[in-house]
Amino acid sequence: MKFNSNFSDIAQNYLFAEVADRVAAYSKAHPDKKILKLGIGDVTLPLAPEVIKELHSAVDDMSRQETFKGYGPYEGYDFLRESIKNYYKSHGADLQLDEIFVSDGAKSDLGNILDIFAKDNLVSVPDPVYPVYVDTNAMAGRKVVFSSATESNGFLPMPDYKVNADIIYICSPNNPTGAAYTKAQLKEWVDYANKKGAVILFDAAYECFITDDNLARSVFQIEGAKTCAIEFCSFSKTAGFTGTRCGYTVIPRELKKDGFSANAMWYRRQATKFNGVPYIVQKGAAAVFTKKGQEEIRANLAVYQQNAKIISDCMDRLNIWYTGGKNSPYVWLKCPDGLKSWEFFDLLLNGVQVVGTPGAGFGNNGEGFFRLTSFGSREVTEEAASRLERFLSK
Ligand code: PLP
Repeated sequence: MKFNSNFSDIAQNYLFAEVADRVAAYSKAHPDKKILKLGIGDVTLPLAPEVIKELHSAVDDMSRQETFKGYGPYEGYDFLRESIKNYYKSHGADLQLDEIFVSDGAKSDLGNILDIFAKDNLVSVPDPVYPVYVDTNAMAGRKVVFSSATESNGFLPMPDYKVNADIIYICSPNNPTGAAYTKAQLKEWVDYANKKGAVILFDAAYECFITDDNLARSVFQIEGAKTCAIEFCSFSKTAGFTGTRCGYTVIPRELKKDGFSANAMWYRRQATKFNGVPYIVQKGAAAVFTKKGQEEIRANLAVYQQNAKIISDCMDRLNIWYTGGKNSPYVWLKCPDGLKSWEFFDLLLNGVQVVGTPGAGFGNNGEGFFRLTSFGSREVTEEAASRLERFLSK
Protein backbone atom coordinates (compact mmCIF):
# COMPACT_ATOMS: atom_id res chain seq x y z
CA MET A 1 0.00 0.00 0.00
CA LYS A 2 1.13 3.52 -0.75
CA PHE A 3 -0.51 6.79 0.23
CA ASN A 4 -0.99 9.61 -2.27
CA SER A 5 2.42 11.26 -2.10
CA ASN A 6 1.03 14.41 -3.71
CA PHE A 7 -0.15 15.33 -0.23
CA SER A 8 3.45 16.10 0.68
CA ASP A 9 3.39 18.87 -1.95
CA ILE A 10 0.49 20.68 -0.36
CA ALA A 11 1.41 23.71 1.68
CA GLN A 12 0.32 23.46 5.30
CA ASN A 13 -2.91 25.34 5.75
CA TYR A 14 -1.63 27.42 8.63
CA LEU A 15 -3.15 30.82 7.82
CA PHE A 16 -6.25 30.83 10.02
CA ALA A 17 -4.59 28.64 12.65
CA GLU A 18 -1.72 31.12 12.89
CA VAL A 19 -4.17 34.04 13.12
CA ALA A 20 -6.04 32.23 15.91
CA ASP A 21 -2.79 31.43 17.76
CA ARG A 22 -1.56 35.03 17.68
CA VAL A 23 -4.96 36.35 18.78
CA ALA A 24 -5.13 33.81 21.62
CA ALA A 25 -1.63 34.72 22.82
CA TYR A 26 -2.45 38.44 22.78
CA SER A 27 -5.73 37.86 24.54
CA LYS A 28 -4.05 35.81 27.27
CA ALA A 29 -1.47 38.53 27.86
CA HIS A 30 -4.07 41.34 27.76
CA PRO A 31 -7.32 39.94 29.18
CA ASP A 32 -8.76 43.45 29.64
CA LYS A 33 -8.55 44.39 25.93
CA LYS A 34 -11.53 43.99 23.62
CA ILE A 35 -10.48 42.37 20.35
CA LEU A 36 -12.48 43.20 17.21
CA LYS A 37 -12.46 40.52 14.53
CA LEU A 38 -12.69 41.61 10.91
CA GLY A 39 -10.94 38.50 9.66
CA ILE A 40 -13.99 36.30 9.59
CA GLY A 41 -15.01 34.85 6.22
CA ASP A 42 -18.20 33.29 7.53
CA VAL A 43 -21.65 34.86 7.68
CA THR A 44 -23.04 35.78 11.09
CA LEU A 45 -26.71 36.69 10.50
CA PRO A 46 -29.32 33.92 10.96
CA LEU A 47 -31.27 32.32 8.11
CA ALA A 48 -34.17 34.31 6.66
CA PRO A 49 -37.59 33.64 8.29
CA GLU A 50 -38.98 32.41 4.96
CA VAL A 51 -36.20 29.80 4.74
CA ILE A 52 -36.82 28.69 8.33
CA LYS A 53 -40.54 28.33 7.59
CA GLU A 54 -39.84 26.05 4.61
CA LEU A 55 -37.28 24.02 6.54
CA HIS A 56 -39.88 23.36 9.25
CA SER A 57 -42.51 22.46 6.72
CA ALA A 58 -40.11 20.08 4.97
CA VAL A 59 -39.39 18.36 8.29
CA ASP A 60 -43.14 17.86 8.64
CA ASP A 61 -43.23 16.40 5.12
CA MET A 62 -40.77 13.77 6.27
CA SER A 63 -43.05 12.81 9.15
CA ARG A 64 -46.01 11.82 6.96
CA GLN A 65 -46.30 8.71 4.82
CA GLU A 66 -47.79 10.66 1.86
CA THR A 67 -45.03 13.27 1.73
CA PHE A 68 -42.04 11.31 3.03
CA LYS A 69 -38.97 11.37 0.74
CA GLY A 70 -36.24 8.79 0.40
CA TYR A 71 -33.28 9.19 -1.96
CA GLY A 72 -33.75 12.22 -4.16
CA PRO A 73 -32.45 12.86 -7.67
CA TYR A 74 -28.63 13.06 -7.83
CA GLU A 75 -28.89 16.39 -9.62
CA GLY A 76 -31.38 17.95 -7.19
CA TYR A 77 -35.15 18.36 -7.10
CA ASP A 78 -36.81 20.09 -10.05
CA PHE A 79 -38.53 22.62 -7.78
CA LEU A 80 -35.14 24.02 -6.77
CA ARG A 81 -33.54 23.73 -10.21
CA GLU A 82 -36.50 25.58 -11.76
CA SER A 83 -36.00 28.41 -9.26
CA ILE A 84 -32.27 28.57 -10.05
CA LYS A 85 -33.04 28.58 -13.77
CA ASN A 86 -35.45 31.52 -13.32
CA TYR A 87 -32.89 33.37 -11.22
CA TYR A 88 -30.36 33.09 -14.06
CA LYS A 89 -33.00 34.18 -16.53
CA SER A 90 -33.61 37.31 -14.48
CA HIS A 91 -29.94 38.15 -15.11
CA GLY A 92 -30.13 37.46 -18.80
CA ALA A 93 -28.64 33.95 -18.78
CA ASP A 94 -30.75 31.18 -20.35
CA LEU A 95 -30.11 27.71 -18.96
CA GLN A 96 -31.68 24.30 -19.51
CA LEU A 97 -32.89 22.50 -16.41
CA ASP A 98 -30.50 19.60 -16.98
CA GLU A 99 -27.55 21.99 -16.97
CA ILE A 100 -28.11 22.71 -13.26
CA PHE A 101 -26.77 20.36 -10.56
CA VAL A 102 -27.61 20.97 -6.91
CA SER A 103 -24.87 20.18 -4.41
CA ASP A 104 -23.93 20.58 -0.77
CA GLY A 105 -21.88 23.68 -1.56
CA ALA A 106 -19.40 25.19 -3.96
CA LYS A 107 -16.30 23.87 -2.20
CA SER A 108 -17.16 20.20 -2.74
CA ASP A 109 -18.01 20.72 -6.40
CA LEU A 110 -14.89 22.79 -7.02
CA GLY A 111 -12.84 19.90 -5.72
CA ASN A 112 -14.90 17.08 -7.22
CA ILE A 113 -15.10 18.55 -10.73
CA LEU A 114 -11.47 17.55 -11.24
CA ASP A 115 -12.69 13.94 -11.59
CA ILE A 116 -13.82 14.71 -15.15
CA PHE A 117 -10.50 16.19 -16.34
CA ALA A 118 -7.34 14.42 -17.48
CA LYS A 119 -4.36 14.63 -15.19
CA ASP A 120 -2.03 16.23 -17.71
CA ASN A 121 -4.04 19.43 -18.11
CA LEU A 122 -2.24 22.69 -17.39
CA VAL A 123 -4.11 24.60 -14.70
CA SER A 124 -4.12 28.38 -14.40
CA VAL A 125 -4.98 29.90 -11.03
CA PRO A 126 -4.92 33.58 -10.03
CA ASP A 127 -2.44 34.62 -7.34
CA PRO A 128 -3.72 35.53 -4.77
CA VAL A 129 -6.94 33.50 -4.48
CA TYR A 130 -9.08 31.12 -2.43
CA PRO A 131 -6.57 28.31 -1.71
CA VAL A 132 -8.91 25.43 -2.60
CA TYR A 133 -8.13 25.61 -6.34
CA VAL A 134 -4.40 25.10 -5.85
CA ASP A 135 -4.70 22.45 -3.14
CA THR A 136 -7.25 20.27 -4.96
CA ASN A 137 -5.06 20.22 -8.06
CA ALA A 138 -1.94 19.54 -6.01
CA MET A 139 -3.68 16.54 -4.40
CA ALA A 140 -4.34 15.18 -7.88
CA GLY A 141 -0.74 15.85 -8.94
CA ARG A 142 -1.67 18.43 -11.56
CA LYS A 143 0.63 21.24 -12.62
CA VAL A 144 -0.49 24.75 -11.71
CA VAL A 145 0.68 28.04 -13.20
CA PHE A 146 -0.30 31.37 -11.72
CA SER A 147 -1.88 34.38 -13.35
CA SER A 148 -0.52 37.38 -11.56
CA ALA A 149 -3.01 39.62 -9.75
CA THR A 150 -1.32 42.80 -8.59
CA GLU A 151 -1.92 46.43 -7.74
CA SER A 152 -1.11 47.38 -11.33
CA ASN A 153 -3.91 45.27 -12.84
CA GLY A 154 -6.31 46.03 -9.98
CA PHE A 155 -5.97 42.37 -8.91
CA LEU A 156 -7.79 41.34 -12.10
CA PRO A 157 -5.33 39.44 -14.30
CA MET A 158 -6.21 39.24 -18.00
CA PRO A 159 -5.45 36.33 -20.36
CA ASP A 160 -1.91 35.79 -21.55
CA TYR A 161 -1.95 34.16 -25.01
CA LYS A 162 1.60 32.89 -24.47
CA VAL A 163 0.26 30.55 -21.77
CA ASN A 164 -1.58 27.45 -23.02
CA ALA A 165 -3.80 26.86 -20.05
CA ASP A 166 -6.36 24.04 -20.20
CA ILE A 167 -8.25 24.67 -16.97
CA ILE A 168 -8.67 28.30 -15.93
CA TYR A 169 -9.97 29.29 -12.53
CA ILE A 170 -11.72 32.62 -12.18
CA CYS A 171 -13.21 33.83 -8.91
CA SER A 172 -15.25 37.00 -9.30
CA PRO A 173 -16.00 38.83 -7.05
CA ASN A 174 -12.74 37.50 -5.75
CA ASN A 175 -11.84 36.10 -2.39
CA PRO A 176 -9.65 37.64 -0.94
CA THR A 177 -9.30 40.77 -3.11
CA GLY A 178 -12.95 41.70 -3.61
CA ALA A 179 -12.07 42.64 -7.20
CA ALA A 180 -14.74 41.74 -9.79
CA TYR A 181 -14.49 41.45 -13.57
CA THR A 182 -16.59 43.60 -15.84
CA LYS A 183 -18.58 41.78 -18.50
CA ALA A 184 -16.15 43.15 -21.10
CA GLN A 185 -13.13 41.78 -19.22
CA LEU A 186 -14.77 38.41 -18.76
CA LYS A 187 -15.52 38.31 -22.48
CA GLU A 188 -11.75 38.44 -23.06
CA TRP A 189 -11.33 35.35 -20.88
CA VAL A 190 -14.18 33.57 -22.67
CA ASP A 191 -12.62 34.35 -26.04
CA TYR A 192 -9.23 33.12 -24.82
CA ALA A 193 -10.72 29.86 -23.50
CA ASN A 194 -12.64 29.19 -26.71
CA LYS A 195 -9.58 29.91 -28.78
CA LYS A 196 -7.34 27.64 -26.70
CA GLY A 197 -9.97 24.91 -26.29
CA ALA A 198 -9.73 25.43 -22.54
CA VAL A 199 -12.36 25.40 -19.81
CA ILE A 200 -13.10 28.22 -17.35
CA LEU A 201 -14.09 27.14 -13.86
CA PHE A 202 -15.98 30.22 -12.74
CA ASP A 203 -16.53 30.61 -9.00
CA ALA A 204 -19.52 32.90 -8.49
CA ALA A 205 -19.85 32.33 -4.73
CA TYR A 206 -20.05 36.09 -4.12
CA GLU A 207 -22.24 37.10 -7.09
CA CYS A 208 -25.01 38.30 -4.75
CA PHE A 209 -22.80 41.21 -3.69
CA ILE A 210 -22.74 42.70 -7.17
CA THR A 211 -24.72 45.87 -7.55
CA ASP A 212 -22.97 47.37 -10.58
CA ASP A 213 -24.61 46.23 -13.84
CA ASN A 214 -21.34 46.40 -15.77
CA LEU A 215 -19.92 43.61 -13.64
CA ALA A 216 -20.63 39.96 -14.41
CA ARG A 217 -22.75 38.00 -11.95
CA SER A 218 -22.43 34.88 -14.02
CA VAL A 219 -20.06 33.77 -16.74
CA PHE A 220 -23.17 32.76 -18.69
CA GLN A 221 -24.06 36.41 -19.15
CA ILE A 222 -21.14 36.40 -21.58
CA GLU A 223 -21.59 35.38 -25.19
CA GLY A 224 -19.62 32.25 -26.03
CA ALA A 225 -19.36 30.99 -22.42
CA LYS A 226 -21.49 27.93 -23.01
CA THR A 227 -18.80 26.22 -25.03
CA CYS A 228 -16.06 26.88 -22.48
CA ALA A 229 -17.31 27.41 -18.93
CA ILE A 230 -18.60 25.73 -15.81
CA GLU A 231 -20.01 27.85 -13.00
CA PHE A 232 -20.03 27.13 -9.27
CA CYS A 233 -22.36 28.97 -6.98
CA SER A 234 -23.64 28.67 -3.48
CA PHE A 235 -26.31 29.70 -1.00
CA SER A 236 -23.57 30.16 1.62
CA LYS A 237 -22.93 33.86 1.25
CA THR A 238 -26.17 34.63 -0.63
CA ALA A 239 -28.48 33.37 2.06
CA GLY A 240 -26.36 32.41 5.07
CA PHE A 241 -26.20 28.68 4.26
CA THR A 242 -22.58 28.15 5.35
CA GLY A 243 -23.76 25.75 8.05
CA THR A 244 -26.90 24.51 6.27
CA ARG A 245 -24.97 23.54 3.10
CA CYS A 246 -26.38 23.97 -0.39
CA GLY A 247 -24.93 25.13 -3.70
CA TYR A 248 -25.19 24.45 -7.41
CA THR A 249 -23.03 23.93 -10.44
CA VAL A 250 -23.98 24.82 -13.99
CA ILE A 251 -22.54 22.75 -16.83
CA PRO A 252 -23.79 23.66 -20.30
CA ARG A 253 -24.61 20.87 -22.73
CA GLU A 254 -22.48 22.60 -25.36
CA LEU A 255 -19.30 22.00 -23.34
CA LYS A 256 -17.95 19.05 -25.31
CA LYS A 257 -14.60 17.83 -26.56
CA ASP A 258 -13.25 14.70 -28.27
CA GLY A 259 -16.65 13.02 -28.02
CA PHE A 260 -16.97 13.73 -24.28
CA SER A 261 -19.74 15.87 -22.79
CA ALA A 262 -18.82 17.61 -19.53
CA ASN A 263 -22.48 17.65 -18.55
CA ALA A 264 -22.94 13.90 -19.08
CA MET A 265 -19.64 13.11 -17.34
CA TRP A 266 -20.58 15.18 -14.31
CA TYR A 267 -23.98 13.48 -14.09
CA ARG A 268 -22.19 10.12 -14.23
CA ARG A 269 -19.69 11.25 -11.60
CA GLN A 270 -22.39 12.48 -9.26
CA ALA A 271 -24.53 9.37 -9.76
CA THR A 272 -21.51 7.28 -8.76
CA LYS A 273 -20.19 9.23 -5.78
CA PHE A 274 -23.02 11.45 -4.50
CA ASN A 275 -26.53 10.72 -3.26
CA GLY A 276 -27.94 14.21 -3.36
CA VAL A 277 -28.64 17.09 -1.01
CA PRO A 278 -31.24 16.53 1.74
CA TYR A 279 -34.82 17.28 0.65
CA ILE A 280 -35.24 19.48 3.72
CA VAL A 281 -32.25 21.64 2.79
CA GLN A 282 -33.36 21.95 -0.84
CA LYS A 283 -36.80 23.12 0.32
CA GLY A 284 -35.12 25.76 2.46
CA ALA A 285 -32.92 26.82 -0.47
CA ALA A 286 -35.92 27.13 -2.80
CA ALA A 287 -37.48 29.60 -0.34
CA VAL A 288 -34.56 31.96 -1.07
CA PHE A 289 -36.01 32.57 -4.55
CA THR A 290 -39.55 33.46 -3.48
CA LYS A 291 -40.48 37.14 -3.44
CA LYS A 292 -40.47 37.27 0.34
CA GLY A 293 -37.31 35.17 0.53
CA GLN A 294 -35.52 37.55 -1.83
CA GLU A 295 -36.60 40.57 0.21
CA GLU A 296 -35.36 38.96 3.40
CA ILE A 297 -31.98 37.83 2.08
CA ARG A 298 -31.50 41.25 0.45
CA ALA A 299 -32.03 42.85 3.88
CA ASN A 300 -29.31 40.64 5.36
CA LEU A 301 -26.95 41.30 2.46
CA ALA A 302 -27.56 45.04 2.90
CA VAL A 303 -26.13 44.78 6.42
CA TYR A 304 -22.89 43.26 5.08
CA GLN A 305 -22.79 45.71 2.18
CA GLN A 306 -23.14 48.64 4.56
CA ASN A 307 -20.37 47.20 6.75
CA ALA A 308 -18.15 46.95 3.66
CA LYS A 309 -18.89 50.60 2.95
CA ILE A 310 -17.98 51.60 6.49
CA ILE A 311 -14.60 49.89 6.06
CA SER A 312 -13.92 51.20 2.56
CA ASP A 313 -14.98 54.77 3.49
CA CYS A 314 -12.46 54.56 6.32
CA MET A 315 -9.74 53.50 3.83
CA ASP A 316 -10.73 56.39 1.55
CA ARG A 317 -10.32 58.87 4.41
CA LEU A 318 -6.95 57.33 5.28
CA ASN A 319 -5.89 57.45 1.64
CA ILE A 320 -5.08 53.74 1.69
CA TRP A 321 -5.19 51.89 -1.63
CA TYR A 322 -7.66 48.99 -1.75
CA THR A 323 -9.82 46.82 -3.98
CA GLY A 324 -13.27 45.46 -3.12
CA GLY A 325 -15.58 47.04 -0.59
CA LYS A 326 -18.11 47.61 -3.34
CA ASN A 327 -19.69 44.58 -5.02
CA SER A 328 -17.93 42.40 -2.48
CA PRO A 329 -17.88 41.64 1.25
CA TYR A 330 -14.07 41.96 1.27
CA VAL A 331 -11.81 45.00 1.47
CA TRP A 332 -8.28 44.21 0.28
CA LEU A 333 -5.93 46.94 1.32
CA LYS A 334 -2.32 47.78 0.75
CA CYS A 335 -0.42 47.74 4.04
CA PRO A 336 0.80 51.27 4.78
CA ASP A 337 4.50 52.18 4.90
CA GLY A 338 5.54 49.14 2.91
CA LEU A 339 4.76 46.80 5.80
CA LYS A 340 4.50 43.09 5.15
CA SER A 341 1.17 41.39 5.73
CA TRP A 342 2.10 39.73 9.03
CA GLU A 343 3.88 42.87 10.30
CA PHE A 344 0.70 44.85 9.67
CA PHE A 345 -1.34 42.11 11.35
CA ASP A 346 0.79 42.38 14.50
CA LEU A 347 0.72 46.17 14.39
CA LEU A 348 -3.09 46.26 14.31
CA LEU A 349 -3.50 43.53 16.91
CA ASN A 350 -1.11 45.18 19.36
CA GLY A 351 -2.02 48.76 18.53
CA VAL A 352 -5.82 48.72 18.27
CA GLN A 353 -6.85 45.09 18.79
CA VAL A 354 -8.32 44.80 15.30
CA VAL A 355 -7.86 41.43 13.59
CA GLY A 356 -7.78 40.94 9.83
CA THR A 357 -6.25 38.33 7.54
CA PRO A 358 -2.70 38.69 6.19
CA GLY A 359 -2.77 38.73 2.40
CA ALA A 360 0.39 36.64 2.16
CA GLY A 361 -1.69 33.63 3.21
CA PHE A 362 -3.55 33.71 -0.14
CA GLY A 363 -0.52 33.57 -2.44
CA ASN A 364 2.82 35.26 -3.08
CA ASN A 365 1.22 38.35 -4.59
CA GLY A 366 -0.79 38.81 -1.41
CA GLU A 367 2.38 39.87 0.46
CA GLY A 368 2.06 43.49 1.57
CA PHE A 369 -1.75 43.32 1.48
CA PHE A 370 -4.42 42.66 4.06
CA ARG A 371 -8.04 41.44 3.99
CA LEU A 372 -10.83 42.91 6.10
CA THR A 373 -14.32 41.45 5.90
CA SER A 374 -17.80 42.83 6.36
CA PHE A 375 -19.36 39.74 7.95
CA GLY A 376 -19.04 41.06 11.51
CA SER A 377 -21.79 42.92 13.35
CA ARG A 378 -22.44 46.61 12.64
CA GLU A 379 -21.22 47.54 16.12
CA VAL A 380 -17.91 45.70 15.73
CA THR A 381 -17.38 47.06 12.22
CA GLU A 382 -18.01 50.66 13.26
CA GLU A 383 -15.82 50.40 16.33
CA ALA A 384 -13.01 48.75 14.32
CA ALA A 385 -13.21 51.40 11.58
CA SER A 386 -12.97 54.22 14.10
CA ARG A 387 -10.02 52.57 15.89
CA LEU A 388 -8.28 52.05 12.53
CA GLU A 389 -8.85 55.64 11.52
CA ARG A 390 -7.47 57.05 14.77
CA PHE A 391 -4.46 54.74 14.74
CA LEU A 392 -3.49 54.86 11.09
CA SER A 393 -3.93 58.58 10.59
CA LYS A 394 -1.07 59.19 13.06
N1 PLP B 1 -15.64 29.80 -3.23
C1 PLP B 1 -15.10 30.85 -2.59
C2 PLP B 1 -14.35 31.86 -3.37
C3 PLP B 1 -15.22 30.98 -1.21
O1 PLP B 1 -14.67 32.03 -0.58
C4 PLP B 1 -15.94 30.00 -0.49
C5 PLP B 1 -16.10 30.07 0.97
O2 PLP B 1 -15.58 30.88 1.68
C6 PLP B 1 -16.47 28.92 -1.20
C7 PLP B 1 -16.31 28.86 -2.57
C8 PLP B 1 -17.14 27.81 -0.49
O3 PLP B 1 -18.52 27.88 -0.56
P1 PLP B 1 -19.46 26.78 0.05
O4 PLP B 1 -19.78 27.19 1.45
O5 PLP B 1 -20.64 26.79 -0.85
O6 PLP B 1 -18.76 25.46 0.02
